Amino acid sequence: MAQTGTLLIGGHWVPAESEATFASLDPATGRELGRVADGGERETRAAIAAAHEAFPGWSRTSPRERERLLHRVAALMQERRDELARLVTLEQGKPLAESYAEVDYAREFFVWFAPEARRIYGETLEAASPQKRWTVIRQPVGVVAAISPWNFPLATITKKIAPALAAGCTVVIKPAEQTPLCAVALAQILQEAELPPGAANLVTGSDPRPIGAELLGNPAVRAITFTGSTAVGKLLMREAAGQLKKVSLELGGHAPFIVFADADLEQAAAAAVACKFRTNGQTCTSANRLYVQAGVAPAFTARLAERVGALRLGNGLTPGVSVGPLIDRQGFDKVERHVADALEQGARAAVGGRPARGPECEGGHFYEPTVLTGVTHEMLICREETFGPVLPVIAFDTEAEVIRLANDTSYGLAAYFFTRDLSRAYRVAEALEYGVVGVNDPAPATPETPFGGWKQSGAGREGGHQGIAEFLETKFISTGLEEA
Ligand code: NAP
Repeated sequence: MAQTGTLLIGGHWVPAESEATFASLDPATGRELGRVADGGERETRAAIAAAHEAFPGWSRTSPRERERLLHRVAALMQERRDELARLVTLEQGKPLAESYAEVDYAREFFVWFAPEARRIYGETLEAASPQKRWTVIRQPVGVVAAISPWNFPLATITKKIAPALAAGCTVVIKPAEQTPLCAVALAQILQEAELPPGAANLVTGSDPRPIGAELLGNPAVRAITFTGSTAVGKLLMREAAGQLKKVSLELGGHAPFIVFADADLEQAAAAAVACKFRTNGQTCTSANRLYVQAGVAPAFTARLAERVGALRLGNGLTPGVSVGPLIDRQGFDKVERHVADALEQGARAAVGGRPARGPECEGGHFYEPTVLTGVTHEMLICREETFGPVLPVIAFDTEAEVIRLANDTSYGLAAYFFTRDLSRAYRVAEALEYGVVGVNDPAPATPETPFGGWKQSGAGREGGHQGIAEFLETKFISTGLEEA
């Protein structure tokens, strides 16, 4: 089928009814990478109708057939690995090696959830009466709306649609306006894998409100799965309450990263840099507050500063670059605001602390990888998600104190700590009020394990066997039998 537009609706590539388009920009240069259809309410309604029409057929395909098709998607992603990775770097800005890692991570959700289609187990219960039989079955919820952000433009989509499709749901994908080309490339793969028309639909748009309003207001949509900011997540949850749609939310984070005096300091410093500067600090699981035990604070901070100072900033396509640009002006302004506030209140920049200059940085929004010392909990950087390359360091004395500080936030997504004391490892892991805890591990998230937040970081889980449950309804069937 020739592609006449970038909206995928009912198996057809179509433009917006108004034929309006909007640009996708390279955050490293400001250059236009391409244009996509500017969809709105009408296009969203059409996509929902297509998904609704496809649902009875898709939900009744055999689990093995769904597994086969999802494996086909994974295989096509592997074939296009180079092309997809390059596109992620162009559109999102992260270094190419990280983009390859994202493509692999995104593909792994299809690999993991494809066979999960065959593991949707029910139950048989002992009925209260010998004349009855009781069974519990689980069925797909219906049409799912998947709304995703720009920081992992492939993986935040596949985390949602791989389990939804495996469960037998049909989907309408609404990607972030900064990274629509990645979503279009993924939708092309879904279509080439020969999913039935309407099983997966894509609506891109420059204004999320009319799209969101239709997704929330249309009764055919039975579940909303969203990754993005806590503010938008709350809004969606409120609106979804009108029809009691199922809602799963992966929201903002403010991860503590704790280094105890008994930790391997070299290992912890390397891990902190990996955790903080991946995707230029623009991840929900990024270390936002680094707590280091007072006795080792100077030695550890020196190691950290040396590593951060050695990071190379630039265009993610340039070999050797380890940190790319921020996604846009708004993201850049937030970083500047957080650093200025911290410096005004007495923090010091051990490394960085300024917008980056130089020929590699022209046209993009580049900020120097930064380590701040002398940070206190009153500073903005300790209260709000920075979403940028700034690591604030705070010294602490005791385990009890650092647990209290680490939990002193409305967020509860990811937390990390480094120690070589086994008892402390269990004690602290159990005391942290977070959905994901990395003990001597800066990158715990994988498709096989449940990922999601406590408190205002979200509701529901992605990944693991839990991930598919978000898209299933439970049905109890009681059958009366005739007397023998
Ligand atoms: P965002 O502004 O909340 O946007 C996320 C998505 O929601 C985008 O597709 C956006 O569309 C859409 N959206 C915005 N307003 C909407 C509305 N009224 N109705 C329907 N959709 C709407 O977040 P972001 O800035 O893209 O992403 C950064 C945030 O995501 C951070 O807070 C980060 O922590 C969080 N995040 C969380 C996880 C996790 O797993 N917990 C993972 C990654 C990121 P537009 O692009 O058109 O505005």
